[in-house]
Amino acid sequence: MNIVIDFDNTVYNSTRKVCDFHNIIYNKNVDWKLVRNWNLDDQCSFKNPEREVENIFDDKMFYQKQYLYKDSIKYINKLCEKYEVNFCTIGNPKNIYHKSNLIRQYFPKAGIMSLTNIKNKGMIDLSESIFIDDKLHNLLNSDAKYRWLFEHKKIRMNFNSHFNDHSHQVESVSKWNKIYDKVEEMCNG
Ligand SMILES: [Mg+2]
Repeated sequence: MNIVIDFDNTVYNSTRKVCDFHNIIYNKNVDWKLVRNWNLDDQCSFKNPEREVENIFDDKMFYQKQYLYKDSIKYINKLCEKYEVNFCTIGNPKNIYHKSNLIRQYFPKAGIMSLTNIKNKGMIDLSESIFIDDKLHNLLNSDAKYRWLFEHKKIRMNFNSHFNDHSHQVESVSKWNKIYDKVEEMCNG
């Protein structure tokens, strides 16, 4: 079994980090836990949300250890000892470069599938994989054998609001220690 993991808002609290940047630039005090829209425009007062958020993602300072979710370093590295683990992330060459440096530093045994030319994770063959992503859309477009939706308990994004019925064969997960146990149970149980 191999495991494919999204990065932003699955392993890394990108929403909180963008809010922190926003609050410094605009001298505001937005609470990241209230954000519901993917470009944060429901809470943040960016003049040009799309461009400014992209610029923030391109900044080397965006990628800092303390924004990695609790226990992700410990448990993803434990998974790497037993399984093939790859991060799968979409971005431009600049932000992929900074993101990859952070990944290599804290998850040295994980691979990186970086998508710079395609915007659709459904293009990748994940038919033998567990795929973990915070965007339901990415999971539903994927042929992954197991599709797990990462839902941070403090974040409820609008783009997952239609995740009510369980007919999609998507399971919800929320903590990295629990994800580790779930993989172990499934593969050895
Ligand atoms: Mg994500």
